[in-house]
Amino acid sequence: MSATQQSWHGIPREEIPWFPTVDAEACIGCQLCFVTCGRGVYEMDARVANVAKGLSCMVGCSTCAAVCPTQAISFPERELVWRVEREHKIFREVRREAADKQAKLDSAKARAAAGARVAALPTRARLEVAGVFGQRAFVARLEQLLEGRPFDVVKLKLEIPTVKGAAERTPGFMSFEVTSTDQADVTPFLEELRQLVRDSELVLVDEARL
Ligand code: SF4
Ligand code: SF4
Repeated sequence: MSATQQSWHGIPREEIPWFPTVDAEACIGCQLCFVTCGRGVYEMDARVANVAKGLSCMVGCSTCAAVCPTQAISFPERELVWRVEREHKIFREVRREAADKQAKLDSAKARAAAGARVAALPTRARLEVAGVFGQRAFVARLEQLLEGRPFDVVKLKLEIPTVKGAAERTPGFMSFEVTSTDQADVTPFLEELRQLVRDSELVLVDEARL
């Protein structure tokens, strides 16, 4: 068992008499110990600090005594902690806890690094294409290219100057975004899109990673 409020490096916490004592006469009720302690050891009782959960105190900690402006808080001598360490031979347990802690830290670092690698992948790009679209069924071919792939095309806009112009094969302008549906790198797919643009006798006007 790790150092918790119930045990300290494998030693039942109730076997270690380490907790604060408040001199009620010296306490001025400033509440600093109450707000300082993160373990809920103190309650304020009629403007005097009261040790309500002494065994929740972290063994070896004496922060509240250090900050008390009237030195109303006292602890046992530190020799008590050193004696407990010696008598209970805690360091085998401490080594095990340290290995667990290091493994958790390493795992958190590895997860963060993997997340950063995924975040750094280009997963979205915008393309702008010009030319005659209708004749070569560009959109239908684009749809075929996407089939079974972890990519999609969004925000597709086609601008054709006039309806008559379309019939007369006047060049139009198309813009769209290609995005990965599972955080995959979109770069290799962009090369296939460029090839499709060329095969469709269109012109790639602009391409930008988003
Ligand atoms: S810090 Fe000291 S003076 Fe202030 S409430 Fe706690 S025991 Fe009392
Ligand atoms: S010594 Fe630390 S853990 Fe214990 S009561 Fe004071 S602030 Fe809380």
